[in-house]
Amino acid sequence: MTEKCAGEDNNEKFEVMLTAEQIETRIKEMAEVISHDYRGKKPLLICILKGAVVFLSDLIRCLNIPLEIDFIAVSSYGADTKSSGVVRILKDLEQSIQGKEVLIVEDIVDTGLTLSYLVDNLGSRHPNSLKVITLLDKPDCRKVEYKPDYCGFTIPDRFVIGYGLDCGENYRQLPDLCVLND
Ligand code: 5GP
Repeated sequence: MTEKCAGEDNNEKFEVMLTAEQIETRIKEMAEVISHDYRGKKPLLICILKGAVVFLSDLIRCLNIPLEIDFIAVSSYGADTKSSGVVRILKDLEQSIQGKEVLIVEDIVDTGLTLSYLVDNLGSRHPNSLKVITLLDKPDCRKVEYKPDYCGFTIPDRFVIGYGLDCGENYRQLPDLCVLND
């Protein structure tokens, strides 16, 4: 499907890859599975800033279990659209995760470098369990082997924006997931 996103400006063209409705439907399905898997527990959902904020806020409102949230920021591509391969924590958690059921919430897995690093880093803080939820996965782009525990959509190797994802800090507010044409 090819159409313009709400918010189009400067004559740039967006192709919609996933509509807001498709994302909403899939998040409800994911939340059902996660609520089932974590029944009787109170997981701590760790949102990776900033791209996963929109996904986290929609996901937690579909989960029917008690939960906590926290935020972590890691270095990303900045204004570039290519992975630097360097991962650095820019903002750390506000709490210890020792003994907790931890779920990392990510927007997209690309090379796998960010999540491999975070799983190692957070895993060394002795959580009781540690799993990863990602809305999107681009498995063709891996530089390191990595498979998320929960995944919304597997997508092709295209640079996507909207639904929280940016290009140079723009377009995060678009309700659909779009491909930004060159
Ligand atoms: P990885 O470390 O797996 O290469 O990259 C993960 C991070 O790269 C994501 O959290 C996201 O910030 C960024 N990223 C990867 N692919 C895309 C994409 O297609 N669009 C946007 N906006 N960011 C991406």
